[in-house]
Amino acid sequence: MEPILEVDDLRVYYKSIWGDYKSVDGVSVKAYRNEVLSIAGESGCGKSTLVEGILRLVKPPGYIPTGKVIFEGIDILRVPEEELRRIRWSKLAYVPQGAMNSLNPVIKVEEQMVDAIIDHSGMDKEKAKEVALAMLKEVGLPVEVANMYPHQLSGGMKQRVIIATAIALKPNLVIADEPTTALDVVVQRGILQLLRMLKENYHMTVIMVSHDMAAHAQIADRIAIMYAGKIVEVGLINQVFKEPLHPYTKGLISAIPAIGKKYVKGIPGLAPSPLNWPSGCRFHPRCQHATELCVKVEPSIREVERERFVACHLYG
Ligand code: SF4
Repeated sequence: MEPILEVDDLRVYYKSIWGDYKSVDGVSVKAYRNEVLSIAGESGCGKSTLVEGILRLVKPPGYIPTGKVIFEGIDILRVPEEELRRIRWSKLAYVPQGAMNSLNPVIKVEEQMVDAIIDHSGMDKEKAKEVALAMLKEVGLPVEVANMYPHQLSGGMKQRVIIATAIALKPNLVIADEPTTALDVVVQRGILQLLRMLKENYHMTVIMVSHDMAAHAQIADRIAIMYAGKIVEVGLINQVFKEPLHPYTKGLISAIPAIGKKYVKGIPGLAPSPLNWPSGCRFHPRCQHATELCVKVEPSIREVERERFVACHLYG
């Protein structure tokens, strides 16, 4: 499988008077062409910051002390700003968290989509309108939506408008951060099917970031689990759900509510602070298998079987 994106030892820190918040602290991960890669983990584990690092969107006091992000052979962290601007949207699209709320409520959908398309492609207005209408249809919206204001649309419809705009230039990689948050379950399902459609119909690679394990189970090919600024397990979605290896992954899966499940088991304790990660394995204060080794020595992530990676002393 050919990687479209390779992230190597990426770190994203935020300066503060108390020291650096090490939100992303040495992440290496690959996304392959034509796959849906999920990035999962509790809130505050660094998922969204990882995406901002990948897209070079980190703003001061944030900074990237080390790391490499190679997208289609281009070194994203070092390419000139002008070239990066050309790549964004046309090749690499981003649906940020809460993006549906970024639509201007008093400007019609078509105008907002057309402006974005022209801005990133240089298309003339007529062509951009044609593309906007085609994309609305593609994401399952009636073309009449083009002539409506965002405040007239439901949350699910707004999210579809955002996705339609993001994919208007047929990028090769779409990164969606919490695309189903704040939507009811029926609408969530529609958005997940839409993201899966991008892969099936357009052969795009989709990276979906979410804390919702059930959402990942519905569309992902592979999943990467993040904890305390690091990736602790990566594998095919079926493998990971059927036989999770890392104790944290096990905890996340057992916390998924399901019909017939008498009770939902949570993970004890709270996620640690990026200002002061625990020693050794960062999960040790919450792990029932922790040993003295876990407290002292950080486990490195290693391949335990083909395309199956885990960072835990139980597998070393
Ligand atoms: Fe638990 Fe130790 Fe594995 Fe960390 S390395 S997850 S503390 S068993």
